[in-house]
Amino acid sequence: MRIEANRDVCVSAGMCVLNAPEVFDQDDDGVVEPLVAEVPAEHLDAVTRAVQVCPSGALRIGGE
Ligand code: SF4
Repeated sequence: MRIEANRDVCVSAGMCVLNAPEVFDQDDDGVVEPLVAEVPAEHLDAVTRAVQVCPSGALRIGGE
C-alpha cells in the first residue's frame, strides 16, 4: 500500500515519527517526510496508528 503524506496540511506534530520512525521523518521545519513510498508489511500496524493519531489528517495509506 502506498503512503500519501500531504505536506501542505501537516502541522509538524511529529506523531507519525513517534509511532512509525522507520517510515516517517520530519524536515528541518518539522514537516513530514515519508522515508519510503510503500508501507513495509512489518510496519503496517505502526503506520495505521500514525494515520489515526495524526492531528491534521495529512496521512493516508491505500492503493496497491
Ligand atoms: S503526525 Fe501528521 S501533522 Fe504531525 S508531523 Fe506527522 S503528518 Fe505532520
